[in-house]
Amino acid sequence: MRRTIYIITLFVVLMVGISTGMSAQNKPFLVVLDAGHGGHDAGAVGRPTTNREKDINLAIALKVGKLLQQNCPDVSVLYTRSTDVFVTLSGRADIANKAKADLFVSIHTNAIERSASRRPMGVQSYTLTLRTAQTNLEVEKRENSVIQFESDGAQKYSFMNPNSPESEIMFELMQDRDMQESVNFAKLAQEEMVKTGGRKDMGVLQANLAVLRLTYMPSVLLEVGFISTPEEELFLMSDEGRSLIAKCIYNAISRYKTLHTGRMSKLEKIDPKAVDKQIVENNVELKEAIDNAAVAEEPVEKPVEEVAPVVAEPAAPVVVLQETTPAEQPSNSQPVFKVQFLISPKHLVPGSTQFKGVKADSYKEDNVYKYTYGSTTNYNEIVKMKNEISDRFPDAFIVAFKDGQKVNASEAINEWKNKSKKK
Ligand SMILES: [Zn+2]
Repeated sequence: MRRTIYIITLFVVLMVGISTGMSAQNKPFLVVLDAGHGGHDAGAVGRPTTNREKDINLAIALKVGKLLQQNCPDVSVLYTRSTDVFVTLSGRADIANKAKADLFVSIHTNAIERSASRRPMGVQSYTLTLRTAQTNLEVEKRENSVIQFESDGAQKYSFMNPNSPESEIMFELMQDRDMQESVNFAKLAQEEMVKTGGRKDMGVLQANLAVLRLTYMPSVLLEVGFISTPEEELFLMSDEGRSLIAKCIYNAISRYKTLHTGRMSKLEKIDPKAVDKQIVENNVELKEAIDNAAVAEEPVEKPVEEVAPVVAEPAAPVVVLQETTPAEQPSNSQPVFKVQFLISPKHLVPGSTQFKGVKADSYKEDNVYKYTYGSTTNYNEIVKMKNEISDRFPDAFIVAFKDGQKVNASEAINEWKNKSKKK
């Protein structure tokens, strides 16, 4: 009797399996694009620029999504985040699991401890493995470190310990097919970025990455370049560089989808040489600044109304950088805010066409001239001034001075906020 029930159950399960398999033919191919990090988790940070991994990842993910939406009507795109917000690693996986995605693509930017002798360049595609080779530990440490931002992280991800029995079980549950498909996609992504995008090949690798462990579908984590290597940082901060990477990822997804559904979609033609040339031209000045600079620049600040209510938010790692002036120097003077919109290795005459009609002040730092607009002790005023010139200088950002010395802008803004709250 029990045996009959078992056979009937098995039959029903098989039938459901077959029918869902058939309907899968008509359902759109669902890709989850996962822009790594976000919100108070900045990811890797450029030095001395303080450019943030989370911004690069998001910009590329959005570009990939746009290409898919424009060119592949039979592909659905789901983002784990489409703005600068924090999402837990399990939250990212949940989104993909609940939607029963066909493919999970996590986009990240690589980094190593910066030193003059270690300036790696290139792209890596990671799939999951339980046991890790020694060489991949650095990437695991960095990409899994998001767990520290989650209050119950240590408990929630206990299975990440390769020695725990839970870990073995989780791994068994992973289907061989998904593992193989992950590697297939990783190979396509790597090939596109190297052959079509002209990036340096650092291989298809395996690592014990939490976000890949938690997704139940073919899933790959891409490290699209090194933010810690100035040449690649420039590339990844440029719109051309991001578009090029996005096109390569898009091509890989299109090819992967074609293999699985038999439905072709068009591939983007790319001339990497032309792109590289344009990036170099656009960034000559910026490159000199990066090479010469010894002090961190501030990232673009959010308008105050976005930040003010949640002061309890943990500080982003971005803010904790070396300062020029020791913190113990007491100062009663108020910070003065300015909008920095241009840097130049040469001194520019007042009224230069490079200022695009903006009235410029200048200061010299690290052998480059830095040009600013406005000067006020009111942070809200400087945000308005930044917006005034944002059409001409979209990358302008707020800097702060105290007694004529440049200070950490994030701290100056906090100081201003605290003072204005007390009033
Ligand atoms: Zn990352």
